[in-house]
Amino acid sequence: MKVAIVGAGTGGLASAIRLAKLGYEVSVFEANDFVGGKVNEQWLGDYRFDMGPSVFTEPALIEELITLCGKDSSIFSYRQLEESCRYFFSDGQQVIVPSGMEQTAKTFESAFGENRLRTQRFLNRLSKNYKALYPVFISASLHRRNQWMNHGIWKAITRIPFYGMSTSMTAVNRRIFKNPKSAQLLNRMATYNGSSPYRTPGLLNIISHLEFNEGPAMPIGGMVQISKTLHQLCIELGVTFYLGERVDEIQHRENRIVGIRTTKQDFSCELVVSNMDVHFTYERLLKGLHEPKKILRQEKSSSAIVFYWGIKKSVKELGVHNIFFAQDYQAEFESIFETKTRYEDPTIYIHITSKVEKGDAPDGAENWFVMVNAPINVGQDWDVFVAETRRTCIEKLSSALKLDIESLIEIESINEPRKIESVYFGKQGSIYGNSSNSAFSAFYRHPNFSKTLKGLYFAGVTVHPGGGIPLALNSAKIVERCVREDYKR
Ligand SMILES: Cc1cc2nc3c(=O)[nH]c(=O)nc-3n(C[C@H](O)[C@H](O)[C@H](O)COP(=O)(O)OP(=O)(O)OC[C@H]3O[C@@H](n4cnc5c(N)ncnc54)[C@H](O)[C@@H]3O)c2cc1C
Repeated sequence: MKVAIVGAGTGGLASAIRLAKLGYEVSVFEANDFVGGKVNEQWLGDYRFDMGPSVFTEPALIEELITLCGKDSSIFSYRQLEESCRYFFSDGQQVIVPSGMEQTAKTFESAFGENRLRTQRFLNRLSKNYKALYPVFISASLHRRNQWMNHGIWKAITRIPFYGMSTSMTAVNRRIFKNPKSAQLLNRMATYNGSSPYRTPGLLNIISHLEFNEGPAMPIGGMVQISKTLHQLCIELGVTFYLGERVDEIQHRENRIVGIRTTKQDFSCELVVSNMDVHFTYERLLKGLHEPKKILRQEKSSSAIVFYWGIKKSVKELGVHNIFFAQDYQAEFESIFETKTRYEDPTIYIHITSKVEKGDAPDGAENWFVMVNAPINVGQDWDVFVAETRRTCIEKLSSALKLDIESLIEIESINEPRKIESVYFGKQGSIYGNSSNSAFSAFYRHPNFSKTLKGLYFAGVTVHPGGGIPLALNSAKIVERCVREDYKR
């Protein structure tokens, strides 16, 4: 049977590997002339930049795919970072948070005056929550009872009182920590799936388990190695790639998939996996089909403005991951989600791979990926928005680091919501599809299969289980499981 995959993002590539391994004849159609979707790179002169994701957790999910293909896991190598992030607060305090539960608890004690054991107990609780939810919520379809109703279900149910479902992430964190700065650090994790910590449920604190207990990793050669490795596995499995070929229609007859129409051909197949934003999949590829309106009408996740700066200096105060917090974090999220306007004092994230990947910048220089969270595109004047954000970032960073940042920028490029929408087809520039800004939004993500068309499946960050590379990889795993069940493979 033939499968067409729409999009060569992480979810698309992982689905291609899994279905090719099941014996399907797999073809991947990608609108851009490169694979990897948001996980791609650019060179600006002698500076290399990862374009999208920078925080990498759960490398075991990549290793699982490599092993599935019978390869040695050494074809993908990564380093575990000793620091999770360096934090710069508006009152001038600087805190380096090391990776690991005990180290984090110690740092919270010395930097913020938190009780070490209490922090450790809380982080341990998040670890248990994560592990309990994984088999029923993250690696299984929530929309097929036989999948989530597994041996792990009772453990997941008994932990319900510890999830913080009925209260916001910030409320949970403010209850645990006496210093608002500690709570702010944990609140930041809501941005990892494009949500607001003031509205997302405490359940989402499980992201902190990955950040603080396990700590971030970094692929040797940069994040783009994820895409390159998955692409290579696909090639070796005989997957065919059609790059620069946009899919314009998913064709169906009598409630079954019969093929796709691209910018260049009509292609017959029995199965389609869409790695395109699920909103656009319905809007552009399935015109006329009854849409799951309740799901598609949910509030969208945030977008981002990214400045890629070649900086002709090595700044010792900075590490691989750095955050310069806004003074009023809540006001910043109100700008992003309520008024959808620019915030004067944004939280700035700087990612510098050249701290560990020396080839990513010339000697004595650094590749800065400078990102601020932004609202989705609702027609703001982005030229002004981006220019003003750039000015604010330069002023804020110059003052915090006591450097003239503008004069150090040797080379530059910019990514912003309009580009995220036009290059990667993210609805209104949202990065993760729907946000998780309500108690039950996690349950309102689109299933990994179509309930109306036999043979149609969905993988990627806009569907279940949610945003981020690990979840996109899990979505492909769920697609494989659904296909196995539907076609008894
Ligand atoms: C600035 C930024 C920072 C991020 N930071 C992180 C991070 O630190 N950690 C993390 O885990 N995640 C992060 N993410 C999110 C991350 O990019 C995604 O989790 C990951 O890339 C998986 O995405 P995906 O599988 O949904 O596919 P995508 O990367 O969205 O790829 C979808 C692909 O489908 C193609 N496509 C769409 N429509 C069509 C069509 N009709 N025909 C053919 N092709 C089509 C697109 O061109 C694209 O290549 C970030 C994203 C951005 C933009």
